[in-house]
This record gives sequence, structure tokens and C-alpha cells, in this order.
Amino acid sequence: MQTRSYTSRLFYALVLMLPLLVHAAPQVMVSIKPVHSLIAGVMAGIGLPELLLRNGRSPHHFSLTASDVRKLTRAERVYWIGEPLELPLAKILRATVSESRVVTLLSLPDLQLLPLREGVQWERHAFHEQGEQHDKPVEKGISLAQVNPHVWLSPINAALIVRMAVEDLSHIDPENSSAYRRNGETLLMRLQELDRQIGEQLAGVRDVPFIVFHDAYAYFEHHYQLNAVGSVTLSPERMPGAQHIQQLRNRIKSLNARCVFSEPQFEPKLVATLLEDTQARAGRLDPLGASLPSGPDAYFTMMSDLAEALAGCLGGDGK
Ligand SMILES: [Zn+2]
Repeated sequence: MQTRSYTSRLFYALVLMLPLLVHAAPQVMVSIKPVHSLIAGVMAGIGLPELLLRNGRSPHHFSLTASDVRKLTRAERVYWIGEPLELPLAKILRATVSESRVVTLLSLPDLQLLPLREGVQWERHAFHEQGEQHDKPVEKGISLAQVNPHVWLSPINAALIVRMAVEDLSHIDPENSSAYRRNGETLLMRLQELDRQIGEQLAGVRDVPFIVFHDAYAYFEHHYQLNAVGSVTLSPERMPGAQHIQQLRNRIKSLNARCVFSEPQFEPKLVATLLEDTQARAGRLDPLGASLPSGPDAYFTMMSDLAEALAGCLGGDGK
């Protein structure tokens, strides 16, 4: 049976060639959902990055499973924000992943960095120096210990992360570089459109004072020139004491703060306590898109949801 053996030989030859024909995507791991979303967008049609902090786990406080650690050791690339955000990850990365495979986003050149605001009460646009233009890196020599690590909430930084990922992935996976580039262009256009929409949506509430749960929104506030006047807690792990609550309540009254925003991971009861005897309303902001499905759309939905929650609560319609 000449033909059959020829066919089967051809079949085996093809099976052996398969790994060469189907180019495997690099194994990529990303710490938090919004950044995972951007990387997933860059990798669309090529592969799927793995999300480390699933199920709305807070990046400030988490523990990893043995399987998470195994995945980390196998990953060709790990993208994370950095120690000021994901403190528990710092030690594990140092111990398990070679430095050359880790990309610390806080160390990206040209990333816009803002300082964490000290105290629970902030002056308007504390980080707007005179004559300073928007979206310029605000403090060049800012130390990691002082940096506000929630950098992904600026669309400018998001675009920078996309550009970095296109270059970086093209470098480790040159065969797919044209696809990474194409995806990158699409994402940058989507980000521009998102930015335009949010800017329009928030234009009417820029001056309205509000209180956030923790200092996670500095980049968003800065970019859209919003008027946050304080935070409920300095560190999301530490609940404020009675004196702090009294201070905040006075601040809500004296500044006529329109809204106090809680976050999905944290106790909303505290916000209710703050609102007693004030005219302020309760709102909710989610800086991580905790309840959203992960994937390329998560970043865009998270940002739109933030804008909607702010516009809804700060706007005059009493929503
Ligand atoms: Zn945070």
C-alpha cells in the first residue's frame, strides 16, 4: 500500500512540523486587572496573558497560592506596577523570577508620577505647581517611597504602558511584532477616544468637592482636573480613628463636599458614618474594575465606570 504509507508519512511529518508552524505566544503574567487588560489588548489574536490578582483581590494586601508562584516562575514576562503598590509581590518576585523577565512599570522612563498626598485633607490640586502643564511628569526626582502607585488611572500612562508592551513583546516574540504593532495602534486610538469622552463627561463637575476612600485617584483627578479634597483612610488596610472621622466630617461640612466615595473592597459602613448630619451623598469608585470580566475591554469599562460614578454623584441630578 504505497499511497497509504506515503499519506501516513506525510501526516507524521506535518505533526512534527506543527510546533514550527503554530508559533506559541510568550507566557506573560500581569499583576492587576487594568494593566492586564492593556497587555491583553496588545496580545489580541496572539495569546492571552495571565492575570495574577483575580477576583477583586486588593493589590495592597494579598497572598499567592503555590500555583500562582509556579506560574510566575514559568512566565517569560511579568508586568507589575512595583513595590509601592504590590508590596507582597516584591519578595516573591525577587526570590522566584529572574530580574530580566520582570518589568516594573513604575520604573518606565517618562511615566507620569505623582506623590502620595499626606494627611487626610488635601488642598485643591496640591500637585499643580504654578505654570505647570497637564500631563507632564510632575516630579522627576520623586522617590519610590513617596510615589502614588495608582499610575494606570491616567490615560497618558495607559498609552505609555501600551507602547512599552508593543516594544517589549516584539522583542521577545519578533515573529508576531507586526500584530503587536497593529493592536497597539488600535488601543492608542481607543484610549484617545475614551479620554475625549471622559473629559466631556466630567467638564461640568470639575469644581465640585468630594472625598475618596483612599488616595488612588490622583492621576485621574489630575488629568481631568477634578477637586478631591481628602481621603477617608491613608492606607486601605488601616481604618481611621475617631478623631480622623471627626476631622473629615468637619471638612465635608465646611467645604460642602458633594460626595464621599467608598470602594468595593472596603466597608461602606464607614462612609455612612461620615455622611451623618451632612449634605453629602454616598458614591462608589472602583479603581481596579474588581467586578468586571478580565480582558481587553476591562480597562475601558473601568475608566468609563469611574467617570460615570463621579459625574452621577457630583452632578446636580441627585443620582
Ligand atoms: Zn490603592
